[in-house]
Amino acid sequence: MDKLSSIQKFVRLFVSKEIFAAMQAESKQWLVKCSNCNHERSIWSMGGIRYKAAGNPRRYRVCPNCGQRSWQVVAKKQ
Ligand SMILES: [Zn+2]
Repeated sequence: MDKLSSIQKFVRLFVSKEIFAAMQAESKQWLVKCSNCNHERSIWSMGGIRYKAAGNPRRYRVCPNCGQRSWQVVAKKQ
């Protein structure tokens, strides 16, 4: 089992084991990609959860790989 972030632990208190497993699987498919260096990481690995969501939100934040502020696009792995 992966190490959980505090948000993930918190959510786990309120959902069944099955739902939590589904949330984990889906969150791992959502990738956040840096538009500067193309570094990708999953929402789950960032300690977040994305479940039953649609769309491709963008976030302006610092990339842990290149250290630059850039638009990070959230997209589901095909
Ligand atoms: Zn980057």
